[in-house]
Amino acid sequence: MSSTTQKCADMLCHRNGVLKCSRCKGADPETFYCSPECQKSDWRWHKKFCGKQAYVFDVELLGSSNPKITRKVAVPSWYTFKQFHFVLQYIFGPWQNCHLHTFSFLKELGNQRIRSDFSIRKEILLELCHEGDVEYVSQNWFDEREVKLSDVYEEDGRLRSKIMVNGNFAPLLYEYDFGDGWEHKITFVKSELARAARPLVKEAVGCGPVEDSGGIQGWNKVKEAFAATQPTTEQLERRQWAREVSGLEERYNPLAEPDVIVMNYEGRWENHEEGYREDERRRTAF
Ligand SMILES: [Zn+2]
Ligand SMILES: [Zn+2]
Repeated sequence: MSSTTQKCADMLCHRNGVLKCSRCKGADPETFYCSPECQKSDWRWHKKFCGKQAYVFDVELLGSSNPKITRKVAVPSWYTFKQFHFVLQYIFGPWQNCHLHTFSFLKELGNQRIRSDFSIRKEILLELCHEGDVEYVSQNWFDEREVKLSDVYEEDGRLRSKIMVNGNFAPLLYEYDFGDGWEHKITFVKSELARAARPLVKEAVGCGPVEDSGGIQGWNKVKEAFAATQPTTEQLERRQWAREVSGLEERYNPLAEPDVIVMNYEGRWENHEEGYREDERRRTAF
């Protein structure tokens, strides 16, 4: 197998790459090497995902419209649900990891709010979150730090039987901020060879809402305020508020589409992940 257009995967090498890793059998189109020397020097990075799986998910912010806020993302199969929470914070952009969250696998997704409707809570097939974050956990609760994505999505995963409904994976709901109640519907798309040891965004539509904007209705008002050609005083105040909360000030534009290339910068993800870990350390210090 060879290619004349691929660059050598060694970051410091600018030659073309023709050799492929024999272990992942060249299924990853981004991993070519010009020489065994470069392959050897890249191995300390490549081994983190060589031959491993990533899961592709479609994520939709329920209730969002014009446009519907969606993401398609590949997530390492060896990530825990705690790390998946970090990924979801990251890919929706402005989520700042400052509210509680929970993951729930459900027989089916209705229109009701999960946390406020106890009858729905009995329908939870598997619940993953931090112990102590929710008042009543279901019987099917597990600590999100101790369950990997592969525990539910691999054929021999130890919790897989819990989430199978009529031969399919049950829909997964990620609720963030029990006040504003942001509900993200997560659909498993497929398993594929990992192309990195980190999440990779494949598609992103619609700017993620700013924190504390009051749920979908509140978020729509923020967007209206920015779209208005002759904004009212209230709309001008709303713009100012959103700019401050976003932390981006004048650069903030909720009507702009997210930039997938920027989201996939390696260093950017690593910086955010470190910030989320720091949040967790502070939380558990009390
Ligand atoms: Zn090279
Ligand atoms: Zn490989």
